Amino acid sequence: MKIRSKRQRIRWIILMSTMLLFPALLNYLSPYVIIMGASEGVVNGSMLLFGGLFLSALALGRGWCAWVCPAAGIGEMCAIAQPKTVGRKPRWIKWGVWVIWLGVITAFVLAAGGYQRVDPLFLTEEFVSVTHPQQYIIYYSVLISIVVLSLTVGKRGFCHTVCWMAPFMILGRKLSNVLRSPALRLWADSQVCTDCEVCTRNCPMSLDVHTMVKLENMEHMDCILCGHCVDGCTKNVIRYTFAKPQQ
Ligand code: SF4
Ligand code: SF4
Ligand code: SF4
Repeated sequence: MKIRSKRQRIRWIILMSTMLLFPALLNYLSPYVIIMGASEGVVNGSMLLFGGLFLSALALGRGWCAWVCPAAGIGEMCAIAQPKTVGRKPRWIKWGVWVIWLGVITAFVLAAGGYQRVDPLFLTEEFVSVTHPQQYIIYYSVLISIVVLSLTVGKRGFCHTVCWMAPFMILGRKLSNVLRSPALRLWADSQVCTDCEVCTRNCPMSLDVHTMVKLENMEHMDCILCGHCVDGCTKNVIRYTFAKPQQ
């Protein structure tokens, strides 16, 4: 995956920056801290962020995954070493993980008598997530799981199989599609496509972009709107648009 366009270079710089901030941000993305918050009836920082991701997906789809997420840079760096395409089946694993995790949160919050207060800095009083040696163990465990899954499952393996944040954005996007509300989308004109399949080879989410173009249906729950297909197509077949769904 070569980075040729200015847009992709900017995206890469942003992802490298947020990746370096990962130790500071870890708790705000944590599936564990939200459970601890639920057990004490506290709406914590990660719960607020996950709610924000759902809402952002109404207009921006999974743009967070392409442009902001600290884990994304790690996944894309691993993809240089392991560019294997991820099939359909592993993608469903994250839904099982997500449902179980939501069930645990619900059980804890019910046991606590519901949510009673909001504390974005719950268990993160120093603003920065990783400050003590034991927190480094958690941080490196997360890091290792992202790297191992990306190097074994394939491109962005962690995103496809484990990520507890992705379903929030997928559901937000689905809602936006059901409502047919304007949002950031891809648009394709199949008439000028030369079937070179560069877009499919370049897609960091292992999507069959060429077929999507042929069907003129660029909507896919795993599209993160990274723009690689837009920037890599020499025929300008695909472009960004802010509009209602194409179909
Ligand atoms: S799928 Fe999850 S880990 Fe991957 S980029 Fe999106 S939010 Fe981050
Ligand atoms: S890169 Fe462009 S021309 Fe090539 S298959 Fe994809 S959409 Fe068609
Ligand atoms: S289809 Fe295009 S925008 Fe969507 S993930 Fe693949 S390369 Fe990125």
